[in-house]
Amino acid sequence: MEISQIIITEDEIRKRVAELGAQITEDYRDKDLFIICILKGASIFMADLIRQIKLPLEIDFMSLSSYGASTKTSGVVRMLRDLDREIAGKHILVVEDIVDTGLTLSYLRENLMVRKPASLKICTFLDKPSRRQVELHPDYCGIEIEDYFVVGYGLDFNEKGRELPYIGVVKQ
Ligand code: 5GP
Repeated sequence: MEISQIIITEDEIRKRVAELGAQITEDYRDKDLFIICILKGASIFMADLIRQIKLPLEIDFMSLSSYGASTKTSGVVRMLRDLDREIAGKHILVVEDIVDTGLTLSYLRENLMVRKPASLKICTFLDKPSRRQVELHPDYCGIEIEDYFVVGYGLDFNEKGRELPYIGVVKQ
């Protein structure tokens, strides 16, 4: 895998994650915050983000699959791992790496709403609004990007590149 261009640097990531953390801290000041991290891509973002949220919180993990080993969406979402805990009555913040067509989070939102949380919001590090196929507006978004296939900061290309500290475009 070759990176053709770095579009978001490590410094830019750090600054934006701190801003998101400060905003979430404000918004959830009197609420019990329960973070759901979507594996595997959002793991690095979530780890950085929760340390910028100056509130007590809980975390849990879910794993969904919509892509397999391709860079195109199939529209089919499978749940590979569910939560350990019940979320009824809790203030849920879903943390995702990137929203593309919106199909994955739209499925997830329906799935979680059935469990009757007190509230449900979405925080994504990256957003590609031009690719959206369903109505989905993240409540918190790190950075909007053009329609590139990107890797790094948790995002992979065939399971490679998650460890890169920046967001880069893959040379195809
Ligand atoms: P959606 O259901 O919104 O189309 O897709 C969301 C998922 O697709 C993300 O969680 C991510 O796994 C994958 N995805 C979408 N765009 C990209 C991208 O540019 N790079 C990588 N590595 N994954 C992407």
